[in-house]
Amino acid sequence: MESNNNKIICVTGASGFIAAHAVKQLLEQGYKVRGTVRGGAEKYPYLTSLPGAEERLELVKADLLSNAAFDDVVEGCEYVLHTASPYIVDVKNPQRELVDPAVMGTTNVLGSCAKSTTVKRVVLTSSIAAITDEPNSNKVFTESDWNTKSSLKRNPYYYSKTQAEKAAWDFFGNKSYGFDLVVINPYMVIGPSLGPSLNTSNKIFRDVLSGKYPTIMNINWGFVDVRDVAKAHILAMETPNAEGRYLCSNEIMTMTEVIKFLKEAGYSNYPLPMVNLASHWGNKVMKVLSYTQPKGSGTYMRTHIGRTMRYDNSKIKRDLNLQFINAKESIKDAIEDMLKWKHIKARS
Ligand code: NDP
Repeated sequence: MESNNNKIICVTGASGFIAAHAVKQLLEQGYKVRGTVRGGAEKYPYLTSLPGAEERLELVKADLLSNAAFDDVVEGCEYVLHTASPYIVDVKNPQRELVDPAVMGTTNVLGSCAKSTTVKRVVLTSSIAAITDEPNSNKVFTESDWNTKSSLKRNPYYYSKTQAEKAAWDFFGNKSYGFDLVVINPYMVIGPSLGPSLNTSNKIFRDVLSGKYPTIMNINWGFVDVRDVAKAHILAMETPNAEGRYLCSNEIMTMTEVIKFLKEAGYSNYPLPMVNLASHWGNKVMKVLSYTQPKGSGTYMRTHIGRTMRYDNSKIKRDLNLQFINAKESIKDAIEDMLKWKHIKARS
């Protein structure tokens, strides 16, 4: 802990679900943290009240779209955790709302790091979305896979993450700088939130418990706890031999398994989906119904229903020695936390 005292770590998008946990863990480990945000510090009491924040957390304003905004921010930092990027599924203008901030944000941050005299490594938060646009029941995905199918029309959030990660690797190309790049590719990040916002991935449980889904669909997710994703970023930063991409996800659970678990865990008094459409003909019904959903959610349903996701997460366990929190524990913690923030109404 003592030895971390003089190291400054920059965390972009410090207000975010994942980043706030990274800030918390970095402060716990004795680091100094320079977090970038878009509002004034008074907007983030959940960050400024963290243990160690008064002495070692600095919040500075920076927007992903402004060129050179990060020059002064990264100077003096040894590591940069670049997490900031819009995480929204339904948008009106995907280029402007998703792709531009994701890609320009990444190249702006890397450009500033290239000018800095202190940065040794950038850890970029990419996503499973940069690995594949959709599950493929016959394939086990690894870090060597790239999403080639997403576009502005098809899963545009996935497209933004793919373009941003590509831009990061292209930035290096054959050039060498005084820093290197390590990428974390999480799947569905869930768990307790330090701030009041409801994260897009935790919304699944809010929707399932509030009766938004009348049916159980043939869909599955790879879950990873937000505390593990934050930890993975710090391990990637601290481990000298860390290299390349790290697929960061624990267990896969089907929607049927999630609902069964919620009943066992004491949530059966909530309006959980009753009709099971996790079947061959159910897939067809749900794909037709997907056209009644907002565009982003509709494409997501059509590209995911009826397909089983499989992936190999051995690299992150081996290289970074990351041990994942059990998915059921993360689901329980996520729900308890959403009750606390009143994203879900308590039922007796
Ligand atoms: P959040 O929405 O909680 O955090 C996103 C962060 O990015 C916020 O701090 C937000 O700032 C910031 N941001 C967005 N647009 C801009 C902009 N134009 N300029 C400056 N900052 C901006 O999401 P997560 O914590 O979940 O996501 C963090 C990263 O993890 C993202 O890169 C996301 O793609 C990735 N990821 C997330 C997964 C998940 O399941 N949650 C899965 C895989 C990857 P503000 O608070 O001001 O809006």
